[in-house]
Amino acid sequence: MTTLQEGRTTEELKALAEQAGRDLEEASALEILQWAVDTFGEQFCVTSSMEDAVVAHLASRVRKGVDVVFLDTGYHFPETIGTRDAVEAVMDVNVITLTPRRTVAEQDAEYGPKLHDRDPDLCCKLRKVQPLEDGLNGYRAWATGLRRDESATRAGTPVVGWDEKRQKVKISPIARWTQDDVDAYITEHGVLANPLLMDGYASVGCAPCTRRVLAGEDARAGRWAGRAKTECGLHG
Ligand code: SF4
Repeated sequence: MTTLQEGRTTEELKALAEQAGRDLEEASALEILQWAVDTFGEQFCVTSSMEDAVVAHLASRVRKGVDVVFLDTGYHFPETIGTRDAVEAVMDVNVITLTPRRTVAEQDAEYGPKLHDRDPDLCCKLRKVQPLEDGLNGYRAWATGLRRDESATRAGTPVVGWDEKRQKVKISPIARWTQDDVDAYITEHGVLANPLLMDGYASVGCAPCTRRVLAGEDARAGRWAGRAKTECGLHG
């Protein structure tokens, strides 16, 4: 299958992404994903934290067997691994699990235990940023579940943009959705969601760095609580 991006230089690809971001600002999530599949074919994947499977479900409606990339940091809640396994078992997607170059034990031996408490930026770099960069080799575009309403740092998320760090097109098909939109989609389509979302967690990351949110807090307040850190480096 010949795709629209083949033969384009990086600069042309960046311009394509920025134009698509403007053109698709008012488009539905399915229309944005259809554009991504038409443009990138097999060089497009969805990434999922397995907080829920909404974007994976949307993408599978556009392209059966779409690649869904999951980062297994070694620090996930059992519920998150269970959600990944359930997605793999029941959805028409190809789940690809990425793992860091070092196991947790190897990291502990090299850097000391609980690096996440002492230097979470380095821990995220070793366990999230590096493996994603390795795993995205071979793709020219990736989709995320980022939403503008999640936090101030995500308020400007384009539906299609340019990922300067990885030199790839980054697609956020539900950027304009609210939490109510997500909840309605999960209910309407019976989409798998992490059980922790029913247990006080509004955003699910690694167990040592995630707590339940309190009334009135934004969805990501439970991530790296008490620290200035708000993002793991995958999106900033
Ligand atoms: Fe390490 Fe916490 Fe980052 Fe997970 S979220 S990679 S445990 S610092």
